[in-house]
Amino acid sequence: MDLKNLTKKYSNDDITVVWKPGTCIHSAICFHSLPEVFDPGNKPWITISGADTERIIQQVNNCPSGALSYFRNGEGPEKSVE
Ligand code: SF4
Repeated sequence: MDLKNLTKKYSNDDITVVWKPGTCIHSAICFHSLPEVFDPGNKPWITISGADTERIIQQVNNCPSGALSYFRNGEGPEKSVE
């Protein structure tokens, strides 16, 4: 499997968190700061219901590698400019 291009998605009612395993540098920042959501011991390792949306967004924005990102549901991961 080509990890580089693999993406995993986890959605709640508001947002979808996107994780790119090939980009993750395993800094552990996410699961030290918000273990209710990010727990590598769980399968799947992201429990999107573990915290509210704003808290998850805050944590996603703290990912140093860019492996974590999110988009608002209905807006899509890429906004097309036409
Ligand atoms: S904060 Fe980002 S780079 Fe660090 S373990 Fe979490 S997803 Fe990976």
